[in-house]
Amino acid sequence: MLKLFDSYTKKKRAFRPLHKGKVTFYGCGPTVYSSVHIGNLRTFLLYDLLRRLFEFSKLEVTQVMNITDVGHMMADEDEGEDKMEVAAKESGQTPQEVAEFFTRQFFRDIDRLNFRRADVYPRASEHVTEMIRLIGRLLDKGHAYKVRHGDGGTSVYFDVSTFLDYGKLSGNKLDDLSPGARIEVRDEKRHPADFALWIHNPKHLMQWEAPWGSGYPGWHIECSAMAIKYLGETIDIHAGGEDNRFPHHECEIAQSECATGHEFSHYWLHITHLLVDGEKMSKSKGNFFTLDDLLAKGYSARSIRYLLLSSHYRQTLNFTMRGLDSAAAALDRLDSFADTLSRYSGQEKGIRSNPAAMARKGFVAALNDDLNISNALATLFDYVREANERMAKNELTANERSDAGQLIKDVGQLLGFTFGRTVGDEDIPSSVKALVEKREQARLEKAFAEADRIRLELLEKGYEIEDTSDGPIIKRK
Ligand code: AMP
Ligand code: ZN
Repeated sequence: MLKLFDSYTKKKRAFRPLHKGKVTFYGCGPTVYSSVHIGNLRTFLLYDLLRRLFEFSKLEVTQVMNITDVGHMMADEDEGEDKMEVAAKESGQTPQEVAEFFTRQFFRDIDRLNFRRADVYPRASEHVTEMIRLIGRLLDKGHAYKVRHGDGGTSVYFDVSTFLDYGKLSGNKLDDLSPGARIEVRDEKRHPADFALWIHNPKHLMQWEAPWGSGYPGWHIECSAMAIKYLGETIDIHAGGEDNRFPHHECEIAQSECATGHEFSHYWLHITHLLVDGEKMSKSKGNFFTLDDLLAKGYSARSIRYLLLSSHYRQTLNFTMRGLDSAAAALDRLDSFADTLSRYSGQEKGIRSNPAAMARKGFVAALNDDLNISNALATLFDYVREANERMAKNELTANERSDAGQLIKDVGQLLGFTFGRTVGDEDIPSSVKALVEKREQARLEKAFAEADRIRLELLEKGYEIEDTSDGPIIKRK
């Protein structure tokens, strides 16, 4: 039974979907005015892990992740310049071109990190009609008010005083939300915590027509509108980085629940920020690494994925290059284990109990316990160490060998890796097989220069050859 720490009730709760066998899952996605950094990717990887765990538990998942390409402000969400527009001005492109460029880069990054794709990646700019409709519902019900500007234009604000539950997620009380760092006082607002649903500002490049006049949507409304459109008025689970809890998710709850009259999300999951040198990795601070930065330093996408996944999502992870080296070493151990296992021919003698099946159970149980990856990996590595010793002594039974294979396969599926560098015969492309045979022939004929040339050609195709007394073994590079 899967349990998750629900950051609304602040308790670990058994995860029970609203509709049997199905899960609706919304995770806040990237703002595409620059490259995503590995902190963002860690949050998105947690969504990926959760999705894999849901699927492993035979739940049918519908996952939505927004692409924010409008309406995410600089200093505060009501004023200041739109991040997309600032990036556009700096690069001499249109905001749409900037967004398109970084959206493509985002997809390239998540593919390189072997993400399972979400079902929908809605772009905010393509859902302004839905946002206008939602704002209209809030105006009709008296949860929002219009403010007319000197030039005749209109902005729309959410009236927090109409939602008694405002603050229920973050614990912030309206009375305490006095003007401060996070809340901008604007004379036109009735309460400092009121937030913009629609912003009138003729200087902006991106403008849409609403019944109350031209402008563009606030940031929070996009997630409510798109979650409701693709997942329904009440969703099972909503996730995001810890900074999203307030004000973003608090505002999402307020506007969604006021518009629909229903609970917005049944579970809330917040992922602790990735730190670098003890500080939050952030785009605005500039202290970040992108996936490209790390790949350029020679680290593999697999090691990066492993490092970002390998500590619990509610615990602080301080990013270091040394951490990446340890991740590579851990993967190496698992790859070698998978390779040894695939070559091991099980003996019927020795220990009969089945520690592999136990380890598999332990691994899944730890993940089911609020994604406790640290315990899951500890269980896995304890088993691997022990099983390696028994394989060396030829003591692993045939039964256990098959269960150990299943363990490695399931761990791979849950964590998003294919372990082992030995490639199974069925997975080797025929062109690669032909080259390997050609190389064997060259070696027989003592044409070693030709054999070496073919080895290099194979390496370029991503395959390494290990010559053994039983013939060549083909491995992934
Ligand atoms: P943004 O593109 O800034 O809207 O962020 C996209 C997602 O990444 C949000 O869910 C953020 O909470 C999350 N995020 C931002 N910075 C970090 C970080 N340093 N570590 C983990 N998640 C982050
Ligand atoms: Zn969001």
